[in-house]
Amino acid sequence: MIEYKNVSMTYDSGVEAVKNANVTINRGEFVFVVGKSGSGKSTMIKMLMKEVEPTEGEILIDGFNITEMKKSKIPYLRRSMGFIFQDFRLLPDKNVYDNVAYAMRIIQASAKKIRRQVPLVLSLVGISDKAKMFPDELSGGEQQRVAVARAIVNNPTLLLADEPTGNLDPETAKDIMALLNDINLRGTTVIIATHASDLVNEMQKRVIAIDKGIIYRDEKGGYNYES
Ligand code: ADP
Ligand code: MG
Repeated sequence: MIEYKNVSMTYDSGVEAVKNANVTINRGEFVFVVGKSGSGKSTMIKMLMKEVEPTEGEILIDGFNITEMKKSKIPYLRRSMGFIFQDFRLLPDKNVYDNVAYAMRIIQASAKKIRRQVPLVLSLVGISDKAKMFPDELSGGEQQRVAVARAIVNNPTLLLADEPTGNLDPETAKDIMALLNDINLRGTTVIIATHASDLVNEMQKRVIAIDKGIIYRDEKGGYNYES
C-alpha cells in the first residue's frame, strides 16, 4: 500500500509542484495520474522513487515511511520497483536480451536465474523473436516492450510509468497500455502518469487528476480532461 499523507513538494525555484496530496493506493491497483503538462504528474511519481523529496508531509509504502529513509537504503527501495519512461532509456550498445539481463546482473542474480527469467519476460511482452536485435533496429513500440520487460524482470511489486506512450502512435500506445494492464492482472501495482486522455477513457481505471499541483479528482472510470 502506498500512502501520500499531506504531501507537498516545492522545487528550489519556488514552483509548488504538488500541494497537500492525500492519496492511498492499494496493492494490485491500476492507477492513472492525469493532467496537463506541468501539473505535477512526474513529481508525484518521482517522490515514490525518491528522485525528489516532499518538502512537507510523508509517504508510506507498506507502512514504512520512505521520507525518513537513509540515502544508503534507496537502492533497496528501488529494487522493489520497475520504471518505464517516455524515451525508453535502453542501452544502445546492448541487444534486447542483454538490456533485460543487465537489470538482473545489477542485482547480482545468478547466471542460471538470468538464463531462465529473461526468455520468460521477453515472451511475456511478445518480443522473443527480437532478442538479438539492438535498440536502433527496433520500432518505438518494440523498444518500449523491451523497456517493459526490463522493468518487470526482477518481479517488482510496483511498476511506475511516466508518459509510457508519449513517443508512440495511437495504435502502438494502445498495445503498450494493454500490456501494462496484463502485468497488473498478474499482481503488480501499476501507476501511470499520462496525458493520453483517449486511452485513459477507454481503460476505465482509477484516475487521479491533478492541476497546478492540486489533486481535484480521484475516481474510477473514464474522464475527459484537458491535456
Ligand atoms: P508534469 O509531469 O505534469 O508535466 P512536473 O511534475 O514535471 O509536471 O512539473 C510540475 C511543476 O514543477 C512544473 O511547473 C515544472 O515546471 C516544475 N518543475 C519540474 N521539475 C522541476 C525542477 N527540476 N526544478 C524546478 N521546477 C521543476
Ligand atoms: Mg511529466
